Amino acid sequence: MRNSGKSQKLRDLFNRLRDHPVETDLLPYRNILDEIRVYRFRNLSSEELKTRSETLISRARSGDALDELLTEAFALVDEASRRAIGLAPFDCQVIAGLAMARGKIAELPTGEGKTLAAVFPTYLHALSGRGVHVLTFNDYLARRDAAWMGPVYEFLGLKVGCIQEGMRAPDKQAAYACDVTYATAKEAGFDFLRDRICLERRDLVHRPFHLALVDEADSILIDEARIPLVISGVEERAGWDARGLAPAIKALTPGRDYETDDEHRNVFLLDPGQERIEGMLRCGGLYEQKNQQLLEAVYCSLHAEALLRRDMDYIVRRDKIEIVDEFTGRVVDNRHWPDGLQAAVEAKEGLARRSEGRILGAITLQHFFRLYPKLCGMTATARPSADELKESYELLVVVIPPNKPSVRVDHPDRVFTHREAKRSALVAEIQDVHTAGRPVLVGTASVKESEELAADLGEAGISCQVLNARNDEREARIVAQAGLPGAVTISTNMAGRGTDIKLGGADEKEREKVVALGGLYVIGTNRNESLRIDDQLRGRAGRQGDPGATRFIISLEDDVFERYGLTRMFYEHHRLERQPEALDLRTIQREIEHAQRIIEGQNFGLRKSLWKYSSLVELQRKTIQDWRESVLFAEGTPPILAQKTPQLYQKGLARFGRSGMETFERRAALSHIDRCWSDHLAWITDTRESIHLVSLGGKTPLQEFQRAATAPFLEIRPRVEEAVATDFRRLLKKEGPVDLEAEGRKGPSSTWTYLVNEDQFGFGIEMLQGKNIGFAAGAALYAGPLFVITLIFSKLFKRKKRPG
Ligand code: ADP
Ligand code: MG
Repeated sequence: MRNSGKSQKLRDLFNRLRDHPVETDLLPYRNILDEIRVYRFRNLSSEELKTRSETLISRARSGDALDELLTEAFALVDEASRRAIGLAPFDCQVIAGLAMARGKIAELPTGEGKTLAAVFPTYLHALSGRGVHVLTFNDYLARRDAAWMGPVYEFLGLKVGCIQEGMRAPDKQAAYACDVTYATAKEAGFDFLRDRICLERRDLVHRPFHLALVDEADSILIDEARIPLVISGVEERAGWDARGLAPAIKALTPGRDYETDDEHRNVFLLDPGQERIEGMLRCGGLYEQKNQQLLEAVYCSLHAEALLRRDMDYIVRRDKIEIVDEFTGRVVDNRHWPDGLQAAVEAKEGLARRSEGRILGAITLQHFFRLYPKLCGMTATARPSADELKESYELLVVVIPPNKPSVRVDHPDRVFTHREAKRSALVAEIQDVHTAGRPVLVGTASVKESEELAADLGEAGISCQVLNARNDEREARIVAQAGLPGAVTISTNMAGRGTDIKLGGADEKEREKVVALGGLYVIGTNRNESLRIDDQLRGRAGRQGDPGATRFIISLEDDVFERYGLTRMFYEHHRLERQPEALDLRTIQREIEHAQRIIEGQNFGLRKSLWKYSSLVELQRKTIQDWRESVLFAEGTPPILAQKTPQLYQKGLARFGRSGMETFERRAALSHIDRCWSDHLAWITDTRESIHLVSLGGKTPLQEFQRAATAPFLEIRPRVEEAVATDFRRLLKKEGPVDLEAEGRKGPSSTWTYLVNEDQFGFGIEMLQGKNIGFAAGAALYAGPLFVITLIFSKLFKRKKRPG
């Protein structure tokens, strides 16, 4: 494990010099590890250990630097782990813990025990009494890890809590009040948004943020980072009813009335289609100013009709649309498309419309993470995204070799020209491996693909387990069995993530059998948009020095290639014809990897661009939040009324008393701040189109966006103050006793939270570089149908400019 090679040393030096985002030189960590191993706690009683922990706690709380407490704290965790949960931490786990304690991302392969490694930095930072959040990949893992690691913390006198979706506020408060809280990033984010619309201090669930330790850090900090979390409240919204439009849209003929682009990413209404709609709806010219909302609705309905496929892009369950994540093939809970599109898909499927709300607050996960003063994380696959982690979060990656070196064999891909050839090859290969009794795990790109493959295997007489990410806990149980002899498990890429696959299950004899067969055989049926995600799948084989092998069996017609127009390119470039055998072209393999890198780079570029737009709004959100908090926590003379209406204020004071006036002003100010902020968010959504047009005039859309978003923002404060004063005048006119809390207005009667799924629109980099598209992409963050339109308009615009 020690880096001794001269070339490695040179490389380390070189990396340090050029400010490289990856650390591979572990010597500094090993030195600290040696200091930690000096402590001899083996002979101390549990009571004595607890007393030592208490001493550390009081030292941390009286201001001792964590660095001074670190070695002893780590040594205590080490011993507590042995006693409380029976695991003796490996060196690599302690080193991963050290890297995280220093605010880095620890890369440690799958199955090496990151769950335990996280306890070291978490304990250290929790000593101060300011809560540490361990953010997991899903609710099931939050529950599992809190229960699994809980005894270690408790042994050392710290409290552990766990957050689950749908928990009641008092339970959440209790869980967040613990020293350590396990939760998903999403739920912690939603709780943050809910706190931002609380009207009373007692309703807040979060404490001020301190440290977040993110598990599966690459997925959460990168792949999911641009997803906005949104909180909405009820309020009806005017506009064209998608249900009224659905029949007209269904009456259109594809090809004649509308067409889609090659990548099946955009749909365009053609002239005959436009005329038919105008005829059916008798609405006059569709492109007239007065029909702007209608046009928007028409495009949403078209998008729903022509581009979104049931059982691929979404499924219908319990009369609800559930979105299938394109990236992972999983059904994602609680995710919405932008409002208008969601309504259009519901109309397409003839489902009842769920009440549409108004956005009360939104934040992307990326901005959310940056609210934590300290951030660190762990994953098996960080290195390929090290640059992005550094640029987006100022996080460095520390690569830690496994406890036992990996002996996994990664076979070269088998590449086929077309889908059918790949399908038969998949069945043949699985059959081959399976006959001997060797367990096979197949990672697919979508639910549909999983089901097709399961059917093919069924015909070949092979039974298998299919995981479609419907139930994380049940799935975890199945994946845990994927290492049994003869097991064939098919799963979308991230199903069962975080669950350990033990060869032969718990049985030692079975394990020997599977080891003799070569361990788990992992097959990927698609290359993913990033090499990193391919690596995640490969990592399921060969854990903790086990034998194992991986192979990707793919075709040039796979979605990932078609989406980026690569299929045709490959065919033309190599003058290919369809053939049943695998291609024997080294160059193709290289090209595929090259393409993957380009796609990865594009996605990074897109995220950077989205970041710029969302940062403007985030800055405003922070300003409002600060103000709102000063109102929520204010004590003493209510500033707005006392300053704006001094005479009336005196009157009010005489009538309602000081605390009555405080209550009234707080309630009134909070509800007006929230209303104005919500208006502002809506305004930002609604002005996108004009910005888009302006951007054609040569100004940069980002500047225009900034300008347009700033002026109305500056009016929020005077508007709120005026509204509070008006409410107050009205209050004074009332005779008899009044309920001041109620007078100060209430928040929305009900709220709900969701994720906006904007991935569905798949921006490509060429679009971002286009003059105006950058804006459309940014706008996507503050979801709404208009952004769809922005994209479509720019496409139309390009089409119209083309001569002929
Ligand atoms: P990762 O998150 O890195 O993939 P997990 O935390 O899920 O890994 O742990 C994988 C497996 O390793 C678990 O079965 C766990 O019990 C085991 N394990 C972890 N640490 C140790 C240890 N120090 N000694 C023995 N087994 C361990
Ligand atoms: Mg894990």
